[in-house]
This record gives sequence, structure tokens and C-alpha cells, in this order.
Amino acid sequence: MADILKFVDEKAQDLIQIADAVWNYSEIGFGEVKSAQVQADYLEKQGFTVTREAGGIPTAFAAEWGEGRPYIGFLGEYDALAGVSQEVSAERKPREEGGPGHGCGHNLLGTASLGAAVAVKQALEERGLSGTVRYYGCPAEELLAGKVYMAREGLFSDLDISITWHPGSINTVRLSSGTAMNSAKFQFFGKTAHAAGDPHNGRSALDAVELMSVGANYLREHVIKDASIHYVITSGGGQPNVVPAFAEVWYFVRAPRRDQVDEIYERLVNVAKGAALMTGTTFEIDFLTGCYNVLLNEVLADVMWDCLQKVGPPAFDEKDLEFGRKLAETFDKSMVENLRNSPDFQEFPELKEQVIHTSLLPPRGKGRSGGGSTDVGDVSWIVPTVQMSAATVPIGCPGHSWQNCASSGSSIGHKGMLVGAKTMALCALELIENPELVKKAWGEFKEKTKDSPYKCPFPQGKEFPLDRFFG
Ligand SMILES: [Zn+2]
Repeated sequence: MADILKFVDEKAQDLIQIADAVWNYSEIGFGEVKSAQVQADYLEKQGFTVTREAGGIPTAFAAEWGEGRPYIGFLGEYDALAGVSQEVSAERKPREEGGPGHGCGHNLLGTASLGAAVAVKQALEERGLSGTVRYYGCPAEELLAGKVYMAREGLFSDLDISITWHPGSINTVRLSSGTAMNSAKFQFFGKTAHAAGDPHNGRSALDAVELMSVGANYLREHVIKDASIHYVITSGGGQPNVVPAFAEVWYFVRAPRRDQVDEIYERLVNVAKGAALMTGTTFEIDFLTGCYNVLLNEVLADVMWDCLQKVGPPAFDEKDLEFGRKLAETFDKSMVENLRNSPDFQEFPELKEQVIHTSLLPPRGKGRSGGGSTDVGDVSWIVPTVQMSAATVPIGCPGHSWQNCASSGSSIGHKGMLVGAKTMALCALELIENPELVKKAWGEFKEKTKDSPYKCPFPQGKEFPLDRFFG
């Protein structure tokens, strides 16, 4: 065990440099050209065979080393978020006003997975073990798209196990499932006219968008409680005295399970049909992506929990704690209060005393869905998957925020990242050395998926709409 942890330590400076480079680039989904390149180049130098533009997606890549089974895949991400640009400072100081930033810690996410892949390679080499290690550079997680498209191209189909993590505020193994979702733009086409001169000749596409919203808002009452529907109007016309011939609205539909999303989404499409009929317009759907809820594997979660206990929590020093304390002063007080009353804090009161998490919590979140979605979900329905989290931000740090960006670029982020890399590497090695665990994980996976095998939500043959998320 000790040697694989040492391999990560030997590469620690390289990993910190890569994480900082990705943090500096701050590239948003499908624009992660430099972020993917810095990682792919490094893995090539470490002896991995790199496939760039994997699946025909410009900023996706796969890097592989080794021979024979098992095939162990580490999932990495490197996309930033719009609007949360921030320096490593506890005061709000954007590096670029309104610019993107790593407010979800994906600069650490991909780099830790890469570090784990490199350490496992070294362990396999030294011990002469059979096994293939692969790092997946997955773009556009924040758009819930990268891994879905990669899944459609079959890039995960031959894996025995997939391992990943997410930077966060707690050191634990994650068992919560998130939600399945669909993301689609509804485009309405009408007829323009002078809004005062000849409105009777106009057919307003904006009216259709508004009536679709009315229908969708009535629909909310008659869907399961755990479902949610969100939308933004991305185009609503130019000026009031011109009847808009074009309008567009972008919807997310979320629910705990994939089949529930399919059902609600179909009803939403009927709402759009009704809106078009009422307004004498036509519409088209630009289906951007859809993803699964996360199916976490409990056999693997137990293995990872053992590994996390061997690695231990990040060792934050007084400087980290001081920075964490200052950042925490900027957090929303009611959010922190809610957190203090949450089940985790009731069960583990020591959390109330900590600024950054410096202990470990046993696997969390079993049976919990709700909240956001992730395209890790799709991989988890193809191959048994396990996911941990390590503290890279102070407790109570809001998600997708400038505070998260600041911490992800600091030594707090670096230390959490190294715990992630070590735990994932150790977990992979355990599985390679104990093939019966892999078999057991597959037994659980087959049982859970037997009635609903993975079917990629993004249609076969359809071109990937890489430039239409913000277009
Ligand atoms: Zn994230």
C-alpha cells in the first residue's frame, strides 16, 4: 500500500502545477482546449497512449497504459463555470470581470484522477501485474453532456470498473444518486409584422414561448414531487413594435429516475405542441443532452471507504485554516445554519467545530436523490462506478461560487486533491489485486440494472450540438 501513496507524493508538484494551469485557463464546456492539452501532454510523457478528440469530440481524450484485464477507468473533468472568475482571495476580486472560473473545482477533479492513473501505472509496472489503466478527459460536465456523448460513442463499454471523485467540503464516499435530466431548447417560428400597423398578419413566436411557460407551470402540479422543471428564455424577439418571428426557450426536466424524466419530457413536448397550435406557429426541438441518475455501487463504496481511512483526511495547516475562516465569513449565514441542522451535522457534531473538514465521514447519502445532476450517471449505468469526495473548500461553501473558485486555486484545494488521487489509486490497486471484489461489484450492478439496461439519452446518429449550448 505504502508505495502507491508514495508514487502520488512524488508527483505532487506536477499535479499541483497541472491543477493550477487548468485553474488559470478557466475554459468552459467544449472550449477546454488548453486544459485537455496540458493533461494529455503530461500523460503522453508518462508513457500513456493518448487518443485525442476521443469520440470525435474536440476536447475529449483518453489515455491508456497496460495490458490485459481488469480495465480500470478514472474519470476526469476540467470545465469551468461562467461568471465566477476570482483570485485566490477571501474578498470578492474577479480575475476578469464577469469571466469564467473554477467554481466547482474541476481543475482539481481531473488532475487528481490523472494522478491516480499515473500512480497505478507505476504500481503495476513495479509489481508486474496484469491490468489496463485508462484516464478519461471528459469535457463539459457542467453542461451534463461530455460523458453522455462519450458514452454514445462506446468509450466506456469495455471497462471493468470506473472510479471518480468530486471536490467538496466533506471527506467521504458518496452514495447519493442525484437526478436524471433532459436539456432541450424549444424553438418557435411565427411570422413577423408591424406590431401596431398590421398585427393581424403577425404570428408571435414569443406568444408561443409564453404560453408554453404557462402550460409547463400548470404541469408542475401534476408530476411527482421529486421532479423539477426549470427554464430560461434565450430569445424573445428584438423590440416591441416588431412581432417576433423567432423565439426560443431552454428547458431542463429533472427526476430521480431516467424513465420518469422520459415521461414528463413527453408531456412537456405536448405542452409545446399546444402552444404552437394556439398561436399559429411551428416549433422544433434542439435536444442538447440528457443524463442518468447516478447508480453507485456499494461493494466498491466499501472498498473505497477502507482506502480513504488508510489515506486519512487532508492535513491542513494554520495558513489554510486562516484562509478558510476568512472565506467562511462571506458565506450566506442562513445556508450555514441549514447545514448545521442537517442530518450529517446531527450525527457528527464534531463538524460544528471545524472550519475545513479534518476528519472522515463513512459513506454518505444512500437513498438520497434530489439536487443536481451529473453525467457521471451515464457511466454508472454502463460499468460499476464509485465516487468519493475530499475537502477542497471550507464547510458550508456554496456550490458554483467565487468562494469555491478561490479555494480551488489555493493550497486547501491542492491538499484535498492529493487525498483524492491517493484514495482512488489505492482503491484501483485493491481491485486489481482482488479480482473477486470486481466480480462481486458486477453481481450487484447486474442485479440493479437487469430491468433497465443503459440506453443513451442522446440519439444515435445525431450530430453533437457542441456550440449550441450558449449559441
Ligand atoms: Zn462539479
